[in-house]
Amino acid sequence: MDRVLILHYHEIWLKGKNKRYFLSRLTGAVKRALADLPAAPPRFISERLVVEPREDSVLPIMLERLSRVFGIAYVAVAYRAANNLEAMGAVAREVMARKAPRDFAVRAKIADQDFPMNSMELERALGRVVLDHLRERPSADGDVRVNLSAPEVTCTVEVVPGEAFIYAERQAGPGGLPAATGGRLVALLSGGFDSSVAAYKMMRRGAHLSFVHFYSGPAGARGSSRPVAEELVKALTPYQFTSRLYSLAFEPVQRRVVAGAPESLRVPLYRRLMARTAREIARAERALGLVTGDSVSQVASQTLHNLAAIDHGLDFPVYRPLAGDDKEEIISWARRIGTYAISCQPFEDCCPRFMPRAPAIFSSAEELDRAESHLDPEALVTLALDSATAEDFRFELGKVETRRRLGPRFEKLLAWRKKAAEVPCAAVPAEP
Ligand code: ATP
Ligand code: MG
Repeated sequence: MDRVLILHYHEIWLKGKNKRYFLSRLTGAVKRALADLPAAPPRFISERLVVEPREDSVLPIMLERLSRVFGIAYVAVAYRAANNLEAMGAVAREVMARKAPRDFAVRAKIADQDFPMNSMELERALGRVVLDHLRERPSADGDVRVNLSAPEVTCTVEVVPGEAFIYAERQAGPGGLPAATGGRLVALLSGGFDSSVAAYKMMRRGAHLSFVHFYSGPAGARGSSRPVAEELVKALTPYQFTSRLYSLAFEPVQRRVVAGAPESLRVPLYRRLMARTAREIARAERALGLVTGDSVSQVASQTLHNLAAIDHGLDFPVYRPLAGDDKEEIISWARRIGTYAISCQPFEDCCPRFMPRAPAIFSSAEELDRAESHLDPEALVTLALDSATAEDFRFELGKVETRRRLGPRFEKLLAWRKKAAEVPCAAVPAEP
């Protein structure tokens, strides 16, 4: 029997006039995810996407790839049949005999106006065929039943013009909206668990992310966080197909904060400087906001007081999709999306080296502003930007390729900032 994959979407249904756009992006994403695998191009048949593998052996890898295509609610591994009762009955019997359930239900979806039965009639008719077959089999214990409320196995039949798809197996998709349909954001990515999960959650809403990582100076005994961040971006790229990672040295900035600001305010000051630096990168990337992995009160820098003080004056949206999540939940997401093992590696984070003994839990915007007034934060942002390198990641034909380059917009922005730092304020040229 021919096996095909039936891809269903959910939220795209709600998109009204924009539905066609989202569906074309979804089809594009499916094509791109499967480009190197032997399958016919996906086809739309009555509000579902159908993918036909040319060999059964590629099904597992296809399912794995499709588990990263945002917009898919679930994927069914289906058998096709002609859309008449006899042909559907023969396939349904076969599908259910393999599953050998003790109780089951048949569910029908009919997307063919000319089909002579309604879904309830079809469910009853096929249910009878399947029940008789399961009871008659030599190995059957004779006690097989129909159970509509909590069946052990559900046999789904989807009737479309000219054919039908029948299945008892389906895999949940990642849900959300197709990749890169919602505008760009810049994610602050540490090597830890939280920030890559936060990035994933925003990608799932259709945001296309660029990443910024701040690393510490010469690696300590535990190694630098930089390769960890690179691995994380590599793992996240198949979800959105292309990514850019900016890596910036943070130690020179930290040294100045340590030398010039009260010890207890160091961490919120680091975070403010990171956010401001990322905001500049967001300008070069034409991004509409930042993403962080903050989870309220997880650590001292993430109390509501400190988060408010950090954001003060930024005048740029900051998305914190993990704000209300527990660490347990975040870790289970990290396992699911494939970043857990990467973040488990030992690495030297950029902050612990200059951590205060007693970090402020309730800092205020005024306190941070006062501390910053001795630091020249704009110069510190330029200092961090001046150390930037960028790497482009691209998922193509099943592999992630990388290429180092700083884009011309970033180069221009940096040149402008450096020039602005040299001349008196009144003479600063207009922003690029
Ligand atoms: P994570 O939150 O990713 O597990 P973490 O717990 O070490 O890492 P926190 O101290 O909780 O990081 O920092 C809160 C957020 O600040 C991170 O989720 C991330 O968005 C940002 N951040 C922290 N350190 C860095 C860094 N070195 N580079 C870029 N962003 C960072
Ligand atoms: Mg954290």
